[in-house]
Amino acid sequence: MSNIVAIVGRPNVGKSTLFNRLTKSRRAIVSDTAGTTRDRQYGKTEWCGREFSIIDTGGWVVKSDDVFESEIKRQVQLAIDECDVVLFVLDGENGLTDYDEEVAGILRRSPKPVIVAVNKCDTFDQQYALAEFYKLGLGDPFILSAVNGLGTGELLDAIVEKLPNETVNDVDDELPKFAIVGRPNAGKSSILNAFIGEERTVVTDIPGTTRDSIYTRYNKFGRDFYLVDTAGIRKKAKVNEDLEYYSVIRSIRAIENSDVCVLMVDATRGIEAQDLNIFQLIQRNKKGLVVCVNKWDLVESKSNADIKAYENAIRGRLAPFTDFPIIFASALTKQRIFKVMETAMQVYENKQRKVPTAQLNAQLLPLIEAYPPPANKGKYIKIKYCTQLPNTQIPTFVFFANLPQYVKEPYRRFLENKIRSWWNFNGTPISIFIREK
Ligand code: GDP
Ligand code: GDP
Repeated sequence: MSNIVAIVGRPNVGKSTLFNRLTKSRRAIVSDTAGTTRDRQYGKTEWCGREFSIIDTGGWVVKSDDVFESEIKRQVQLAIDECDVVLFVLDGENGLTDYDEEVAGILRRSPKPVIVAVNKCDTFDQQYALAEFYKLGLGDPFILSAVNGLGTGELLDAIVEKLPNETVNDVDDELPKFAIVGRPNAGKSSILNAFIGEERTVVTDIPGTTRDSIYTRYNKFGRDFYLVDTAGIRKKAKVNEDLEYYSVIRSIRAIENSDVCVLMVDATRGIEAQDLNIFQLIQRNKKGLVVCVNKWDLVESKSNADIKAYENAIRGRLAPFTDFPIIFASALTKQRIFKVMETAMQVYENKQRKVPTAQLNAQLLPLIEAYPPPANKGKYIKIKYCTQLPNTQIPTFVFFANLPQYVKEPYRRFLENKIRSWWNFNGTPISIFIREK
């Protein structure tokens, strides 16, 4: 199970600076698509062999000092509900404010571990500033300078120490885990009800039990599987949840803990920015994907040409990854909802697929022979052999070549497309590496 750390605190205390410091080195290694909005708010890091995600909750709020009190409370509460450790950042230069006290009050009731970090302590002699932060009643504060890095090692040690023990996990790893994600009102709870029956709608809302309810096991349609975070879908508050912050934080947790995501899209609205952001979260986490265009009952023109056009529009928006299934369904009339589940199952199988090395070489080597990578500065590139690596999160292929550095992206994509066309990897990301041999 993946772990999430949430950074909370009022504007200008240095949350985003700290977020960058904690995630930067990691992102330099992982070649993420740069420039997406989420990069500034959500990243992964690793410390002492533990990998975890970090969310900067401040990335979603308007930078203003008069954010509504109720809004603050809900944001902090959501961080507590959906994350494993809460990192409360304060400003050591300017001291405590009423806002800080307010947040501290909520955090004191948190069943999840809280770490207090007093930022902007750029030199050790600023430690005297710590005294007033003890009175928050949240344990020993850590001194920190997000700008120059002072104290970050100790802080990361403390975070890792407080992450939940990985071994407490009675989930069967052999079974597929599906997450139903999408923006508010796309129809997530409706399709869930359609899948599993109305009896499940009753949610006993016991505080502190959120962790336990992240996976619910089902045996439906003759299959055994888990649905991830159904409680999160159900616990939808009556308040305005249209704010992206809420759907994104809930999506992150569900996506990270799934194998395949069913991305619910509202047929009457098409793909919008918020759908794209969730799609990017799925991609960044290398999960399988089924797009479910829901509320199909509301769409008037459903000729084959209309459907094709609709499909193309979606693939166009989600390019370059286009090899995924799209199902037009209605949670209301239950049209094709069984197909959605079947397809998610199929994508899961595709994601597990192992192509025998002999078969891979028998088909790919003649192709490579006929269409070799273009020569570079008069040097010929020879790919000799390929294999699929065992035990990887997504299907991963390694091609051995004499001059791997000259095999460029277009050729890699050519190989990927061939692999996709010969073996069924519909809905799953795949990786291709070229190594020297
Ligand atoms: P956020 O609103 O909480 O995300 O705060 P930012 O990360 O945007 O930082 C607010 C301001 O505080 C910026 O001008 C930062 O350069 C500054 N800042 C952040 N961390 C430190 C620090 O460790 N020391 C000092 N002196 N300034 C900092
Ligand atoms: P969620 O926020 O993603 O969980 O969305 P809900 O399942 O709560 O659905 C939002 C609204 O869309 C509700 O009023 C549903 O009745 C409606 N809805 C959901 N699925 C369908 C559908 O397939 N067709 C129609 N016409 N309405 C739907």
